[in-house]
Amino acid sequence: MATAKEEFLKEFGEHYGYPNGPKTIDQIRATEFNRLQDLVYLDHAGATLYSELQMDSVFKDLTSNVYGNPHSQSDSSSATFEIVRDARQQVLDYCNASPKDYKCIFTSGATAALKMVGEAFPWSCNSNFMYTMENHNSVLGIREYALDQGAAAIAVDIEDIHPRLEGEKVSTKISLHQAQRRKVAGLQEGEPTGDVYNLFAFPSECNFSGLRFDLDLAKIIKEDSSRILGTSVCKNGRWLVLIDAAKGSATMPPDLSKYPVDFVALSFYKLFGYPTGLGALIVKNDAAKLLKKSYFSGGTVAASIADIDFIKRREGIEELFEDGTVSFLSIASIRHGFNILNSLTVSAVSRHTTSLALYTRKTLLALRHGNGSRVCILYGRHNSVEMCHEMGPIVSFNLKRPDGSWYGYREVEKLASLSGIQLRTGCFCNPGACAKYLGLSHTDLISNTEAGHVCWDDNDIINGKPIGAVRVSFGYMSTYEDAKKFVDFVTSSFMSPQNHVHNGNQLKGVNGSLDTCYYLKSITIYPIKSCGGFGARSWPLSNNGSLKHDREWILKSLSGEVLTLKRVPEMGLISSFIDLSQGMLFVESPHCKERLKIRLELDFYDSTVQDIELHGQRYKVYSYSNEPNAWFSEALGRPCTLLRYSGSNHEFVLDKTKDVVSCKDTDSAVSFANEGQFLLVSEESVSDLNKRLCSDVHMGVCGTAMKVNANRFRPNLVVSGGRPYDEDGWRDIRIGNKYFRSLGGCNRCHVINLSLNAGRVQKSKEPLATLASYRRVKGRILFGILLKYASVNGEQQQGDSWLHVGQEVHPD
Ligand SMILES: *Cc1c(COP(=O)(O)O)cnc(C)c1O
Repeated sequence: MATAKEEFLKEFGEHYGYPNGPKTIDQIRATEFNRLQDLVYLDHAGATLYSELQMDSVFKDLTSNVYGNPHSQSDSSSATFEIVRDARQQVLDYCNASPKDYKCIFTSGATAALKMVGEAFPWSCNSNFMYTMENHNSVLGIREYALDQGAAAIAVDIEDIHPRLEGEKVSTKISLHQAQRRKVAGLQEGEPTGDVYNLFAFPSECNFSGLRFDLDLAKIIKEDSSRILGTSVCKNGRWLVLIDAAKGSATMPPDLSKYPVDFVALSFYKLFGYPTGLGALIVKNDAAKLLKKSYFSGGTVAASIADIDFIKRREGIEELFEDGTVSFLSIASIRHGFNILNSLTVSAVSRHTTSLALYTRKTLLALRHGNGSRVCILYGRHNSVEMCHEMGPIVSFNLKRPDGSWYGYREVEKLASLSGIQLRTGCFCNPGACAKYLGLSHTDLISNTEAGHVCWDDNDIINGKPIGAVRVSFGYMSTYEDAKKFVDFVTSSFMSPQNHVHNGNQLKGVNGSLDTCYYLKSITIYPIKSCGGFGARSWPLSNNGSLKHDREWILKSLSGEVLTLKRVPEMGLISSFIDLSQGMLFVESPHCKERLKIRLELDFYDSTVQDIELHGQRYKVYSYSNEPNAWFSEALGRPCTLLRYSGSNHEFVLDKTKDVVSCKDTDSAVSFANEGQFLLVSEESVSDLNKRLCSDVHMGVCGTAMKVNANRFRPNLVVSGGRPYDEDGWRDIRIGNKYFRSLGGCNRCHVINLSLNAGRVQKSKEPLATLASYRRVKGRILFGILLKYASVNGEQQQGDSWLHVGQEVHPD
């Protein structure tokens, strides 16, 4: 029987790999991307990876040559001058642009190149800025310059321009979406007073869908604009064409000998990973002459007089547009990247990456749940293999449950990261493509924004619709194994083979039988948020019902953010202990010789009470003299200050919630803000997890080292008795004579993967990866429950305000 790889090679083998290059794909991965190890990196549309050999060459280059400022006259500056000149030529060659017709202006990135065009374009009130719906925000932003000058901005869809346009009438194939015009004081639309210039902008490859645009569009727009666009849009005037090739050029640079494009924006980290912060605008000479540069600077000015309006700008196009000193060391580095692409040949890179994308699309499209419904909805064009060739190496999709509801893309991202797969989710800075493929209307988009959705946040499904997608994208060094691991991950984590709802809304909790007897096994107090806590046989509750002194102190960085275990894992190595009879908090760290003593009584504090803002709320806090601050700064190897909550109940209520309730990473917003006072885990659930950790076959050997202790979950209370996950079903709970209410499961993040042993922090994928395999509810990975002290009939609870280890726990 053929292996999966043989099957793949049978179908895609002629496109896969670099049989004619200096190394095979497997050799490239083994020798030049050794650092990847088992990591599956699938965000090449975000940034591709640099090769280790490339970096060696850059290092050798920079350490063996002396590069001076290219504007100076020394030998080292002429070395720089030459290398910059050669680099320009290399960029032009990459796009097959004749140096007679085109110039290469270096910029700080593709965005800067696009902005330069927008800023200097000869807009007038009769101009049009027309752009395709599928465009990066950095292109859409040009419209602000256009509108400011009274020009019209028009979004178009060119969905129907394929297949090839030769000889066909195309006037019906472009649909205008929207034309807007801003009222600009002092400008009036009217008869053209001079030449009118219009700009048409589109990406060579959409960074959302992977759709490759036909560059013939450039020719059609320039030569036949009124036929396509209708005379209402274009009165007279000349059309210039801008291509955003930031994404597309990594595998298919635009051929400027064939297409009459005026401007092309590029970014080098998208081509070969390094350097970042460097891009280029390739500009046609006659288009460059139309641009109006306003700012002048060192580098762009030949002569100027300080106190009167006199300047003489430089003549050369590059010199005129490159303000200041170009990033000459980065520019010197790009040839080492081009060397790689040229040795493989960019056409082989395109075939190779396309074969991986085709395989991935095909496999994802074929996935079905046990009930026959589709697992994966792909965005873009892939109705036929032929169509697929119009797609770059991007696969964008969302996943569905057997019942047709959507998995949130954040869930996919979180689980992928646990499987060592790095991908990208959201709208990828391409709101037009996002709206188009996800079927979001303007009203949806506006109400999403009003519902608080902004880029980067955690709301991935609103009103039952995904508002972003999952994107995997391939680079020249991606392998079949990367693609295979990814599709295997989707299959194992999201496909449900049986005809039942996989990862449904309910965890299967087994209710404890009547004679089950639960008891309190341990009590842990964490005085300083995110630092180690201590166990107590008995501990008092404070007035509001949380454990006294629990998370009463926090550490704050110099920039004002509260330090958390997630960002500063070393905090877990700091241990603390409170002796109530002495009225002292003792703190120890492997990095400090002396242990720190802090008196619990208030008179020790500095007199100043500060106001700090935490998660959008203001708190009154006490600050400390220098001694504790110096101690913690040494313990953590970073400057920080200790603060203590000064509220009547001495609690960082909200803050504590963040630590306990949210356990929040990229997941959905906290729903119990202010409420989770205690975190409870059950010993039986921990044992069950440990059994699974050890039986997991693909984990290889299992030793005791794999096992986790209940402390890993930073619980306040550990209970014992009964069966694993009984606690899921609890609502009202009595411990001794105190009543508590469950707020539901605690959503877990990778903080539980930090092991803090023998003064060292180690990170792994466990136990979160295993929990994710069986404790997932709506994108959250639950373990343990959150409790809130309950008032009885609105009354404060009476009696002894202590909890004691050994007390019975009664879920009522
Ligand atoms: C990455 C990207 C950009 C932005 O490029 P920067 O160099 O980061 O400014 C613009 N457009 C597309 C299509 C991109 O993929």
